[in-house]
Amino acid sequence: MLIPFNTPSYTGNEDKYILESVRNNHISGNGPFTKKCEQWFENHLGCKKVLLAPSCTHALEMAAILLNIKEGDEVIMPSYTFVSTANAFVLRGAKIVFVDIRPDTMNIDEAKIEQAITTKTKVIIPVHYAGISCEMDIIMDIANRYKLYVVEDAAQGIMSTYKGKALGTIGHLGTYSFHETKNITSAGEGGLLIINDEKFVTRAEIIREKGTNRSQFFRGMVDKYSWVDIGSSYLINDVSAAYLWGQIEKVYEINSNRLTTWHHYYDGMLDLEQKGFIVLPIIPDECTQNAHMFYLKVNSLKVRTALLEYLKLHEINAVFHYVPLHSAPAGIRFGRFSAKDIFTTNESEKLIRLPMYFGMDYDLTFKVIENIKGFFDETK
Ligand SMILES: *Cc1c(COP(=O)(O)O)cnc(C)c1O
Repeated sequence: MLIPFNTPSYTGNEDKYILESVRNNHISGNGPFTKKCEQWFENHLGCKKVLLAPSCTHALEMAAILLNIKEGDEVIMPSYTFVSTANAFVLRGAKIVFVDIRPDTMNIDEAKIEQAITTKTKVIIPVHYAGISCEMDIIMDIANRYKLYVVEDAAQGIMSTYKGKALGTIGHLGTYSFHETKNITSAGEGGLLIINDEKFVTRAEIIREKGTNRSQFFRGMVDKYSWVDIGSSYLINDVSAAYLWGQIEKVYEINSNRLTTWHHYYDGMLDLEQKGFIVLPIIPDECTQNAHMFYLKVNSLKVRTALLEYLKLHEINAVFHYVPLHSAPAGIRFGRFSAKDIFTTNESEKLIRLPMYFGMDYDLTFKVIENIKGFFDETK
């Protein structure tokens, strides 16, 4: 039996809520389940406003429109990230400036951001890899000194914190993903735009409603609605939100279950780290994490390829992760690497992600660990 890399989490009430949504006679955007989910996030995060979106990709696009990104603006981000982090800003005409990562957390190296700033820089985008926070105090300090905006790509970071603050609530804007590979999911796809600066709220609602002031109209604030700005259809359908509501109700259970699996992996492979075969993930003291991912690093690309092959042979679906954006065809066209790529390519080539999902059996985690040990025993 193959151990999958991921299975979307299901906790028991999602189908009930989907049926309820269908019977509500409101399956399009801004329906009752969307509002319930948004209310929960606003209470939980203590932020100014959240808007549910069709995906994190869409939420990032809304952020780029909100910040008035235009031709020639520069946006700073790590190269070790998902394409949407860059694409959302490239769509508005921005040039992407890639900054190297730190080898310990695989997050953007805050010490290398300042040298990447030019007169054209508008935004810094920290990506919280594996749900483990970037060094946000330093990043916010740089942004304040240079009058830049910060958009946290917290796609992987729900339920994680930095110095007690939820990821996504520290920058001016933040985004979450509810893709089926993430900790909590919506049916189809889903995402969230988190707004931490009051001045963006009204316009964000307009952008989400195709550039109209329809939201204000429904609240009785204007007596007719019209086209007032650019925008698109960034609403999630309520059936998707209904599934998400089932997940939100069980979010603490999902989180603690994933953390248990994470610690099985971690404790089970400490000896491999002591022997120098692997490097385990590092959680900085000021961070709490959500077990979004369990990754480890081996000593070379060659070992990684062999280990992945070995695990596949033993019916374990482990995978590598991002191929750095700056070396991809579109990355070359739309971006440039600031200073030297010391860690981005090197470290990403050594990284392996292990199977990790809600409800994963202890026996399976054990089998994965045993096989990794088996590999190093054989190749010693
Ligand atoms: C998953 C992910 C996204 C994209 O999320 P979607 O909801 O699939 O659009 C963006 N950035 C990062 C870092 C991600 O992990």
